[in-house]
Amino acid sequence: MSKNTKADMFVDIVALHDEVTGSCNICTVRLPDQRRIKFIVDCGLFQEEKYQRENYYFPFDPREIDFALVTHNHIDHIGRIPKLYKDGFNGPTYASTTTSELMTYALNNTAEIFEAATSQNQGRVRHAMSDSSVPVYLANLMNAPLFDKDDVSYAMDNVYGVEFNRRIKIDPNVSVMFAGNGHLLGASSILVTISYPGQRSINLFFSGDYAKTNMFFDVKAMPKNIYELPVTVIEESTYGTTSNSTIKRVFDDNLLESMDMGHTFIAPVFALGRTQEILLKIRRLQEAGKLDPTIPIFLDGNLAQSYTSYYNHHKKLLTPEARDFVPENLSMIHEFAERESLLKKGGAKVILTTSGMGSYGPAQFYLPYFITRADATIHFCGFTTPNTFGRVLQDTPQGELIDVKGVMVEKKARVLATNEFSGHGKKEDLLESIERFPNAKSVLVNHGEKATKQSFAQSVTDTIHPSKGVEVLGPDVCVRVGAYGIIKTLPVTDLEFKSFDAPEEQSKSRQKQKLFRRKMQ
Ligand SMILES: [Zn+2]
Ligand SMILES: [Zn+2]
Repeated sequence: MSKNTKADMFVDIVALHDEVTGSCNICTVRLPDQRRIKFIVDCGLFQEEKYQRENYYFPFDPREIDFALVTHNHIDHIGRIPKLYKDGFNGPTYASTTTSELMTYALNNTAEIFEAATSQNQGRVRHAMSDSSVPVYLANLMNAPLFDKDDVSYAMDNVYGVEFNRRIKIDPNVSVMFAGNGHLLGASSILVTISYPGQRSINLFFSGDYAKTNMFFDVKAMPKNIYELPVTVIEESTYGTTSNSTIKRVFDDNLLESMDMGHTFIAPVFALGRTQEILLKIRRLQEAGKLDPTIPIFLDGNLAQSYTSYYNHHKKLLTPEARDFVPENLSMIHEFAERESLLKKGGAKVILTTSGMGSYGPAQFYLPYFITRADATIHFCGFTTPNTFGRVLQDTPQGELIDVKGVMVEKKARVLATNEFSGHGKKEDLLESIERFPNAKSVLVNHGEKATKQSFAQSVTDTIHPSKGVEVLGPDVCVRVGAYGIIKTLPVTDLEFKSFDAPEEQSKSRQKQKLFRRKMQ
């Protein structure tokens, strides 16, 4: 027996994404018998323009991945799963049962956008952007689709749904457990346990995008013994520097005031989650007698309508109080002619339309018209990234000119926003979610703007001070974790021919590639 057989096992973790999109954690386990297991947690599309080219390649060999885990159905967490299979991944993908069902909608919608993009018809591309958060610049860049519907169907044949709180063995040395979280219907945190005879197990807890609660369902607690484990927590930090006290709950008042003013109230919404939350809000205002139920409500966007129907067909997933979330007098808009007639329709009304940032989908049809109307209120209900149409619209003062597809128009509409619907825990929630593990050995901070990750890591150090420290994940650093937390960090370039090496049979040129280096920038 060689002395290597007694070596402690460890797992090397690298986040392929530096910020909040393109989520992908690559984990390489080295067992005491030298066997290597590679798995990834999420495999999302990069959405920031500066990272767009990274969507085209993986800085690792997909054939070497043993299995993939998916936290939730957002395109920046699942959008490259079909490409992973297309590029040679041959293993199973596990997700919560609900996520495994919802993924079909999101991935097929994305494939449609890619397919339309390759027609090189800008008009068609924009039209096909029916709800999605797939960037136009990515779609327009493509000569061939990143993947098509056949690739989606192949990938989905390999996706397995797993019930919450059930530990399943997916490799002789690896078990996983999906735990519910309030970020989104089906959203999970994932516990990965690596075990080996005679060795202490390594427990990794991936928070995924995390929220403590959700308007639609109760978040199930994990079995008590899980909280006692000596874990390394991999925690998201999107709002790691934001306090709950900054949230202003103004949506109801803004909506009611707009109705009193006889306005068209138009809310750009994300298809999954946000759409249904706002429908529920409206329903509750009607039930409370605050909103006249004869005021018409319209919902436009294919994906938003599909997800709404999924909620309606899966009421068991929802709390009894949220099951009847569809408001009185709701009409679905499908046709162009229906949209046009809505523009001519006077009086108070509510229009919910994708996309949430106003850049794609039917919002592109409504917003240019309603911007110029003094009897309209445009209400954003989620985060808008810089340079999106939604952000520009909010930042332009009323009465000033705004560029709408090359035409300067005067902004007459009232433009409002709220941050009350966010699906991400704030600093206090995130710290509290880590504190649920009194025996946490170390914390790896993930999924946030770079400065936010650093600052949140400091907060974790100051308030929780895990015994084996806190590290920030990113594409340039590999964190080696053992049963008792962080062992050490290594620069990713040093790992090229170690944990993340390409197989020997691969060409020399491939081996020379600087793995994880953003060579396309
Ligand atoms: Zn998410
Ligand atoms: Zn995310």
